[in-house]
Amino acid sequence: EVNIFWFRRDLRLTDNTALFHALNSGIPVVPIFIFDTNILDDLDDKTDARVNFIHASVQNLQQQLIAAGASLEVYYGKPIAVIENLLEKYIIKHLFTNHDYEPYAQNRDAAVGALLEKKGATMYTYKDQVIFEKNEVLKDDGKPYTVFTPYSKKWKACLKENTFYHFKSETLLHAFFKQTPKAIPSLEQIGFSKTNIPFPTKETDTTIIKQYALQRDFPALKNGTSKLGIHLRFGTISIRALARESIILSETFLNELIWRDFYHMILWHFPHIAHGKAFRAEYDLIPWRNEEVLFQHWCEGKTGYPIVDAGMRELNTTGFMHNRVRMITASFLTKHLLIDWRWGEAYFAKKLLDFDFAANNGGWQWAAGSGCDAAPYFRVFNPTLQTEKFDKQLIYINKWVPELNSFNYPKPIVNHELARKRAIEVYSSVLKKQ
Ligand code: FAD
Repeated sequence: EVNIFWFRRDLRLTDNTALFHALNSGIPVVPIFIFDTNILDDLDDKTDARVNFIHASVQNLQQQLIAAGASLEVYYGKPIAVIENLLEKYIIKHLFTNHDYEPYAQNRDAAVGALLEKKGATMYTYKDQVIFEKNEVLKDDGKPYTVFTPYSKKWKACLKENTFYHFKSETLLHAFFKQTPKAIPSLEQIGFSKTNIPFPTKETDTTIIKQYALQRDFPALKNGTSKLGIHLRFGTISIRALARESIILSETFLNELIWRDFYHMILWHFPHIAHGKAFRAEYDLIPWRNEEVLFQHWCEGKTGYPIVDAGMRELNTTGFMHNRVRMITASFLTKHLLIDWRWGEAYFAKKLLDFDFAANNGGWQWAAGSGCDAAPYFRVFNPTLQTEKFDKQLIYINKWVPELNSFNYPKPIVNHELARKRAIEVYSSVLKKQ
């Protein structure tokens, strides 16, 4: 008889909630990871950096598990089929795993839970990915918040002594099922190959967090922000550990972690946003221009607006884009070019190392104006003013757009003032009727 622990967005042995409970259960634990073909088959880029990151993280877990006399079992296929096979291989008592709030994952988990139940096993799931989830931070009338500031106040009021509890799973490694090391399929065996994009490290630099409030808005600063997004996305660091540190070091940084909880909570309560819908239905009436050629210019960083182009080139080259520039490029696409935010959302989803459905959708709908706590529709970022404020010396721009002052640099693909007026007209033509 064994218990199964299923790693998903929590690729670490330290301070892992469900893993802690599994290892405390008194029954040997078989750790598994599934390269899910339902997800992988949809990725066009076979050098996808996120798949590379997951693969490297899984190998790292395997080394630690081998050192503990255990082994990760890594599968490639559809989760339901993998679990069916495991039920034949082992007598499974319980399966432990951490919550995932995306609709695909919820359906997957419901199906796996039902299958286990049919075979007399139970699935136990835990909160691990966020600090507060689902209904933990609600308005006094019991409804979910849709505006960030009051949500963040309530979030802070909900903090208790044990909110950032350290689940010491790392001290229980002896409770894994002992077995000889099992081979992990290579990247090539799961249909991918190596990326040349490097990954940010997971060590938190406390000076970055301490100086965050002053530095976070300047994309030229190498250490202005933490670059921990990818590690939070795949759980190679613990959100509780990071929150424990940041609550002492910087309230501004803590607020960003609260935004992360906020968007996960929004996705949970308003799943229509995961089905291609605007948070506010009336924004789905906007007659987008959707000009393919202009979209292509935007993707390639050839709009003739240096700050927009720098951002898109940074994204294309490194898989990262600074938050300030994400806001500028997203506003430019949706307002200046009147291209459907969903096009931009999908492009970021393909490219961002830290791509996370809840935060990406939240960011895009914020920029387009259609989101829960969004910028008002008549607010159109002015790329020139943004540059003056946040990259005055053009350090960031010169890095990514070295041909700025040469003949090769394209002319602006739209005129700012005309585009601004057009955006406000088009938006107000549908929104004023509401
Ligand atoms: P830091 O500034 O160091 O912040 C620390 C962590 O806080 C981040 O890693 C992230 O987990 C969280 N965080 C910070 N800002 C936000 C925010 N506004 N919303 C939610 N979480 C936040 N963030 C993602 O994690 N994944 C995405 O796919 C994503 N897409 C975005 C798309 C658009 C259009 C916009 C405007 C923002 C998007 N963001 C996304 C939010 C934000 O830009 C990134 O989290 C941040 O730039 C990541 O860099 P960092 O790790 O250095 O963050």
